[in-house]
Amino acid sequence: MDSGEYWNPVLETLPREKMQRFQLEKFKKILNWAYENSPFYRNLYKEAGLEPGDIKTLDDIGNVPKTEKSMLREAQGVDPYPYGTILSVPLEQVTEYRQTSGTTGQPVYHPETWQDWEWSAESWAYALYAYGYRNTDRVFLPFGYSVNIAFWAGHYAAEKIGCEVVPGGVLDTEARILKMKELKATAFMATPTYILGMAETARKKLGINPAKDLYIRKITAAGEPGACVPATKKRMEEAWGAKVYDQVGATEIGHWGFECQAQAGLHVLEAFHLVEIEDIETGAAITEPGKKGSMVVTTFDRFAHPCIRFDSKDIIEWNPTEKCECGRTFRRLKGGVVGRADDITKVKGVLLAPTAIEEVVRDIPELGDEYEVVVIKKGDIDDITLKVEIAPDFKPNVKAVEPKLIQQLRLKTGLRYNLEFHDYGTLPRYAVKAKRFKDLRHKE
Ligand SMILES: [Zn+2]
Repeated sequence: MDSGEYWNPVLETLPREKMQRFQLEKFKKILNWAYENSPFYRNLYKEAGLEPGDIKTLDDIGNVPKTEKSMLREAQGVDPYPYGTILSVPLEQVTEYRQTSGTTGQPVYHPETWQDWEWSAESWAYALYAYGYRNTDRVFLPFGYSVNIAFWAGHYAAEKIGCEVVPGGVLDTEARILKMKELKATAFMATPTYILGMAETARKKLGINPAKDLYIRKITAAGEPGACVPATKKRMEEAWGAKVYDQVGATEIGHWGFECQAQAGLHVLEAFHLVEIEDIETGAAITEPGKKGSMVVTTFDRFAHPCIRFDSKDIIEWNPTEKCECGRTFRRLKGGVVGRADDITKVKGVLLAPTAIEEVVRDIPELGDEYEVVVIKKGDIDDITLKVEIAPDFKPNVKAVEPKLIQQLRLKTGLRYNLEFHDYGTLPRYAVKAKRFKDLRHKE
């Protein structure tokens, strides 16, 4: 891969009208590709009576049917296995397997061709360059590399810029901190929860003050919203004596937004993605600042598994549009991703749907129907307690149930819980709308 500069003055400072023309052409290209090569998309558009040639202006894009996660999931699992009818290249061209880290049932499988993968790393490289990553940086990755996409692209992007990359996956937290110290690493990438957790471990277990004793000057925060929450960002920056930059993305979409060094809102990576905002109730397009809505996103130039008008359910809002002091004209969002349109929430960097917990609890006959989940911050780490009841027909034999519950929760939600077993009938009952999921993390 090339090493070098990821500042494209032509694309990144295009006047709005030119950027819109650029995006329209890119949109038409991927739409046409999907129509020609993916049975899923061809059926979707035929049913809506839409031909790619119908799209002539940016306003026409609003007529293209949206997609959402459940549709991607339904289209997979058949030939070409396992990607199914969305796959838009011959299976032989797929070089990488990824999957989403979501927790409601099946993950979404994500194929990449080598060309798509280069594109993913490239989009990250623009973001890292905007944070100030250069070939003089030594970048530490305190993250276990797996089937999930997280930080793989960050690794390759840092290499593209010419940084020296240290993969710290299999080490535990203390060993990672010591390695960062030993090597005088200058940057790292992690979830906000882990960024704070590492700082706490350094202080409490190793007597290391990251802000004074380590050499980290910039941190890429991804995977959960912390870096767009001002209080959390401040805490991270103070703990590490470093700048923390918010980066947003998802497996199906790619990395679509980043903060520049001005830290004045989240730039949409408009050369790689079209981001639309829709009113959550009416579906009307929101094109001006002042109103929050749900993100609908299209990814350009990623061809194996096209992402076209994907309803991401992220809640976002346009920033007032004065030019950013960094010089980029990519539109900015106010405060990044500020929430989710549905009730799925992130705990310890993992997407958690309360329904996944419900599924586990109600699948174990020894447990009652009621349960309660309480998420708090213990120090800087998310801490989850699950309260359950032993069903009246079973003796309160906690020892028999506990291992099954732990195993199923781990399998279905990927998380560990503090478990509390209560007598039957003692947890709150709800008549209409249950409040079984109590997220108490953001109370200050
Ligand atoms: Zn900027």
